[in-house]
Amino acid sequence: MTDDSADEPLTYEQARWANDDEVYEPLLSEKHTQRVDIDSSLPDELTRDSLELPDLSEPQLARHYTRLSEMNYGVESGPFPLGSCTMKYNPKFTEDVAAHPMASVHPDRSERSVQGILEVQYRLQEQLARIGGMDAVTLQPPAGAAGEFTGILLARAYHESNGDDRSEVVIPDSAHGTNFASAAMAGYDVVSLPSADDGRVDTDALAAALSQETAALMLTNPNTLGLFERDIVKIAEMVHDVGGLLYYDGANLNALLGRARPGDMGFDIMHYNVHKTFATPHGGGGPGAGPVGVTDELAFFLPDPHVRRSNGGYERYKPEHSIGKVHGYDGNWLVLLKTYAYIARLGDEGLADASAKAVLNANYLASRIDHEIPFGPFHHEFVASAGDQDAADVAKRMLDYGVHPPTTKWPDIVDEALMTEPTEIEGKRTLDQLAAAFNAVHGEDAATIERAPERTAARRIDQVSAARNPRLSWQALDDE
Ligand SMILES: *Cc1c(COP(=O)(O)O)cnc(C)c1O
Repeated sequence: MTDDSADEPLTYEQARWANDDEVYEPLLSEKHTQRVDIDSSLPDELTRDSLELPDLSEPQLARHYTRLSEMNYGVESGPFPLGSCTMKYNPKFTEDVAAHPMASVHPDRSERSVQGILEVQYRLQEQLARIGGMDAVTLQPPAGAAGEFTGILLARAYHESNGDDRSEVVIPDSAHGTNFASAAMAGYDVVSLPSADDGRVDTDALAAALSQETAALMLTNPNTLGLFERDIVKIAEMVHDVGGLLYYDGANLNALLGRARPGDMGFDIMHYNVHKTFATPHGGGGPGAGPVGVTDELAFFLPDPHVRRSNGGYERYKPEHSIGKVHGYDGNWLVLLKTYAYIARLGDEGLADASAKAVLNANYLASRIDHEIPFGPFHHEFVASAGDQDAADVAKRMLDYGVHPPTTKWPDIVDEALMTEPTEIEGKRTLDQLAAAFNAVHGEDAATIERAPERTAARRIDQVSAARNPRLSWQALDDE
């Protein structure tokens, strides 16, 4: 293949049973079952006499799950430029580390017998603190959103300890929805900050929004348009001048890794989406982890437990004015272990290289697509506009070209937004394939893209019903 061949989009057929209108892979319980008698000491009214259970051989089972994976699209199928969410291939060595039997010892074991685990947790606290320019890090929160909530609770504990009763959290309108939810759940009124014409924070609007009521400003930097907040030092000063704290949403840390640190920009609290920035396959709600970093002033308030050195070893303890528990035991420990393995393998040079490639890839892809990109210059992600096309139709159609679509319709300051983040893991040829898919869809008429996807195992599904009326049990249970 020559490079030019990449201008032509590849087309794609997803695996499916072609002779079945209801194209699907039967559930295990629909394939072959066996009636099993139940002999239980529980009261009769709580038990059944017998149960139909799947009865399959190992190869049947292996084929079932392989087929299901072929009917899906994942980070191991091809490019997955889901902006802000940062979906990227996760190196398998981190799974080997997490699968080590020593990693899964019972969390109630004595501290003396889990010194190795505590050491890794301590070192990860230190590594993340160094990467973010923070003084202390808790590993407890199990997701980015949980990190935000924890971080805002820390801000509240800090203000309350100063006898300072504040009621508002300021958040730019381009922020992720979880920012608004976290602030509201922590009991604050949310003040939404309109963006300036260049897509960044409007410092005049910020001045008007800040007051003695401001507990914190939550900021993503680069923001969700991929734009670096050039006025960040001034913004930090403005927030601190009214006694507020500056919170960093770390979901876009990929753009800065090894090159710039939120702590150095004046942020007081931040979370890390370790499943986005480092390694862990995520999506569909988990698994992940959202460690939170803070400056010294806030370290007394960190969740219980925290890990520290003691007598040549390591111990868990409850910080002096801890906000309490935000998760059981050691947080999402195996996800944290994968993070540690990833950081250790890449080293500082590797991390800096990852962010450089993430930014280069986004800029290269942007230069190859025909769409309008209203804001720039951007870092690791950009938001293109689908123009007259419906971004949701564009997204579905891209699957027919064998690529995962970008994040759509957000942030809404761009019409029919296509928020695109190719990540550092793609090479030029894959980016060219992605660009060819973007451009092919861009040139198609509404009728074609409204029918899409045509070549996937499942056609267009009813997303609203799936979200509002989920059927989480196997049909046989519903029928009983
Ligand atoms: C993903 C994301 C979050 C939330 O993180 P989760 O780990 O999904 O809970 C917050 N902010 C931004 C900008 C994000 O992209």
